Amino acid sequence: MTIASSSSTGVFRSTETRSKPDPVAGRSWLTTQAATKESTVAIEVRNLSKRYGTFQAIKDVSFEVIAGQLVALLGPSGSGKSTILRIIAGLEVADTGGVLLTGEDATRLSVQERGVGFVFQHYALFRHMTVRNNIAFGLKVRKLPKSEIRARVDELLELVQLTGYAGRYPSQLSGGQRQRVALARALAPRPKVLLLDEPFGALDAKVRDELRVWLRKLHDEVHVTSLFVTHDQREAFEVADQFIVLNAGKVQQVGPPQSLYLRPSSPFVAQFLGQVNILPLETIQLGSRSEAPFPSSLPGLALQSDAQIYVRPHDLEVQRERNGRPCWGARVERITPLGGVVRMELSIKGDHRIQLELISDPSLDLNFAPGDTVFVTPRHMNVFDAKSHTFHPVVLGHEIEARA
Ligand code: ADP
Ligand code: MG
Repeated sequence: MTIASSSSTGVFRSTETRSKPDPVAGRSWLTTQAATKESTVAIEVRNLSKRYGTFQAIKDVSFEVIAGQLVALLGPSGSGKSTILRIIAGLEVADTGGVLLTGEDATRLSVQERGVGFVFQHYALFRHMTVRNNIAFGLKVRKLPKSEIRARVDELLELVQLTGYAGRYPSQLSGGQRQRVALARALAPRPKVLLLDEPFGALDAKVRDELRVWLRKLHDEVHVTSLFVTHDQREAFEVADQFIVLNAGKVQQVGPPQSLYLRPSSPFVAQFLGQVNILPLETIQLGSRSEAPFPSSLPGLALQSDAQIYVRPHDLEVQRERNGRPCWGARVERITPLGGVVRMELSIKGDHRIQLELISDPSLDLNFAPGDTVFVTPRHMNVFDAKSHTFHPVVLGHEIEARA
């Protein structure tokens, strides 16, 4: 079933982007998309800035959202995500900059004129209205014929899997069901774009997990261009085609999720998108010199005292004996089983603490204990050169190979 109109703007057009991720190519997704003849920009924000009193909430923010995509706008609390969303919706006015929706300048349009649907964490349903009337609200305002409204609401009830709940009131629904009604209400008038501001933020973890999967499936059916705000990087990875990472009111990096994870452009992005160990580059030399130490420099990077290694916990291998590859000798400090994975905290030369994660597997010898000496090899790491503010990805094979 599809509820999408065959709009000439291409807003509801299907895209293949999610099924063909390009994790390490490092190309700008904007360039990649622009090369596709049909790709249309559904949301464009240009040089947005906004102050609250003397506080600069967002600073010169520009980005584009390609029609049909589900894009996550993510960043820590207070980074300006909601401010940007409210400016796009027309609920807030920027000090400078503009908003284009499907190519048209929307900067001075009212909320109603923008044709934007939104679902906010605290944007409650109308309590005195049934589910059917909540969903029908935007259609009644537009004075559509009754039979048309009825058919459209039925279609949406099916889409959000709430057929049979039409006569209930919001107080008779669970939190997850209420947010599904809110989504149906937002989709009813066939918005040009859908804005979601932490829509599952108030729900418990299990329901959130289910709704994410559900939202992604729904988006694959409907293809309405969606901008999804979250501070939760796991949630973003689960639903989004593209990431726009924000910090302190500025765009940090834009691109496919996996590209940003593997090729962060800044220490902020590296740390925000998952766990990462940060070690001074000189630690590399702490392995025993007689047993396959790390080279004193990495190709393409002069050894600098202020360079740092960024290595993810799951990119570290651990063994009891040296195996001929470059490794760090380390002491096991703590072991924490976490269900599917086991987390180990290790110390290198006493003062450098690192974490690594191993898949729980009963057939493996994970019988490590605090106090044990182990040897750790990074499969993949990023060396951050503070002088040029750039990352150099390094993959350790039989010899060290740097990929610029
Ligand atoms: P996020 O959604 O990323 O958590 P917001 O966009 O809500 O961030 O807010 C960004 C910053 O602007 C925060 O520091 C917040 O306190 C401030 N801010 C937001 N709205 C207002 C307002 N109406 N008045 C004053 N400060 C505000
Ligand atoms: Mg917010």
